[in-house]
Amino acid sequence: MNIPSHGRSRDEILEEMNAARAGDIRWQQGKTFSLVFQSTLAVKEIAQQAYLMFFSENGLNPSAFPSLRKFESEVVAMSASLLGGDGEVAGNMTTGGTESILMAVKTARDWARANRPDISKPEIVLPLSAHPAFDKAAHYFDVRLVKTALDAGFHADPHAMESAITPNTIMLVGSAPSYPQGVVDPIADLASIAQERGLLMHVDACVGGFILPFVRRLGYPLPEYDFSVPGVTSISADLHKYGYTAKGASVILYRNRQLRRKQYFVATDWPGGIYASPTMSGTRAGGTIAAAWAVMHFLGEEGYLEITRQVMQLRDHFRQGITEIPSLYILGDPDMTVMAIASQHGNIYEVGDEMSLRGWHLDRQQFPPSLHLTIHAGHAAVADQFLHDLRVSASLEKRLSVLKLRNLLGVRLAKFAANTLPPGMLSGLMKRASSMLTGGGSGLPGRTAAMYGLMGTLPNRGDLGEMVLDLLDQMTHLEEKNK
Ligand SMILES: *Cc1c(COP(=O)(O)O)cnc(C)c1O
Repeated sequence: MNIPSHGRSRDEILEEMNAARAGDIRWQQGKTFSLVFQSTLAVKEIAQQAYLMFFSENGLNPSAFPSLRKFESEVVAMSASLLGGDGEVAGNMTTGGTESILMAVKTARDWARANRPDISKPEIVLPLSAHPAFDKAAHYFDVRLVKTALDAGFHADPHAMESAITPNTIMLVGSAPSYPQGVVDPIADLASIAQERGLLMHVDACVGGFILPFVRRLGYPLPEYDFSVPGVTSISADLHKYGYTAKGASVILYRNRQLRRKQYFVATDWPGGIYASPTMSGTRAGGTIAAAWAVMHFLGEEGYLEITRQVMQLRDHFRQGITEIPSLYILGDPDMTVMAIASQHGNIYEVGDEMSLRGWHLDRQQFPPSLHLTIHAGHAAVADQFLHDLRVSASLEKRLSVLKLRNLLGVRLAKFAANTLPPGMLSGLMKRASSMLTGGGSGLPGRTAAMYGLMGTLPNRGDLGEMVLDLLDQMTHLEEKNK
């Protein structure tokens, strides 16, 4: 495909783009439980206005745009104070939770290079529930992750983590809360272990950072998780989740500036000049920085508190409704608005498929199998419909015996193939199988229970990794009809 030789009209372009949205998930109707965080129309509008106002500006060079420098410093300072930080806490805005976590890991590695020169292959100890951004960071920065099992309530287990510490350990990680089950890890226990052993301690508050402080103020019981805990050395918190700002905004915060210094990068002998950069990005969008500042000022603490009050009530309503469905239950005791639903009958994925057929978009989770809920204000209008559909879907779960049989056969076949075929062929086969099972990947998700069942039985998770990378590869390929 080439860039069109003649430019097209604005109307024609917008029309084609609108048409392209036809198959997208309909988050506007509140039927989506990840990817989009809604608050109010007024918040969205101020974010959009601020974003457009600084659409062209570039945060790469703070001396060129004192405006962005002011916004970023103030966003960081407001976030630090919200998260129990004193005047020493320092940080930066990044493009999202992943970049914040990449920075925390890179900073820890470089801190260890300076302070623990005996370590050649640094290790980070973290619970199984920690976000895959840590795996990504370890992959990029050549750090080894040591993952530990969770306790029965899906929290990080401090004893298991302490036992996993070796002379090469540089940092411990806990989540506030973990994404899969929405529980806050025992941060105080972990931080005290870290402090005793002279290690860094990162708290991943990506999803919780801008809601937990308000959840606590509303009187809900919460464990400690922020800079008020001695031994916590860095925190990641995403503005573009419960901060309700434009996408592409997060903060990474450090206990002090000496630690943050290890995050920075400078090249001094480039013909293009001396080049310094605080985070992963070179060019930094002014819009996301401006929108974050604007939304924080627009809502104020009172605004965040009020939205959080509504969202927590909504969460209580969802929780109650789910608990009343006999075959379903919630994993652990979620501390805020993120939770996972499992089934006593053991095939929650089929419940998920039934929900998909009714237009709901719920992420599937594994170990144990569950459906994921991230509740926000956009779900208020649909909560009762959701609970109704969930009840119906749960009641169908046991009756789906024909489908189940077909799924089971598919799984048996795949298992047989996985055990007998050479790996290269297996990857190709999996590719075809998965596109068959997901209905070719076009439009809304269809039945995926079979695919998840299949994945759960693969003898080698490496094969699964290859299969998923094949899928990713295909995603950025032009579809045949467009070639
Ligand atoms: C969302 C999330 C991340 C990753 O953030 P992105 O903005 O998607 O890069 C990391 N940790 C937790 C707990 C999250 O919920």
